[in-house]
Amino acid sequence: MMQQINKAIEAKKNAYAPYSHYQVGACLKTKNEKYYTGCNIENCGISSICAERVAIVKALSEGEKEFESMVIVAGAEGDEKLDIATPCGYCRQFLSEFVDNDFKIILYQGENKKEYTMKELLPYEFIFKR
Ligand code: ZN
Repeated sequence: MMQQINKAIEAKKNAYAPYSHYQVGACLKTKNEKYYTGCNIENCGISSICAERVAIVKALSEGEKEFESMVIVAGAEGDEKLDIATPCGYCRQFLSEFVDNDFKIILYQGENKKEYTMKELLPYEFIFKR
């Protein structure tokens, strides 16, 4: 777990957040124990990309299909202090397409660590049926 947390903290440093000055790092762990990191990447003209989606898109594009957990860290730029930041609605829906209901989402803030399952954060995901 500590390895995954440290990778998320490292990824946070790569955030491109000139507008919000709020940095987020994520580290996704696959079931075969590989790690994929992400950070938020903002854009002045169009929609920004969250750390959570960067991490899972990197993994998916490398052919990964089985996911175990994701650690998320967040905090103001230039500040070592971390906040508990839950994934936005867009990321919850996006992640739910690719992970199991019991996929773990760990919000790390040192001693104040919170852990949820995908199902807890998004009990009623949109499912396209025809
Ligand atoms: Zn998001």
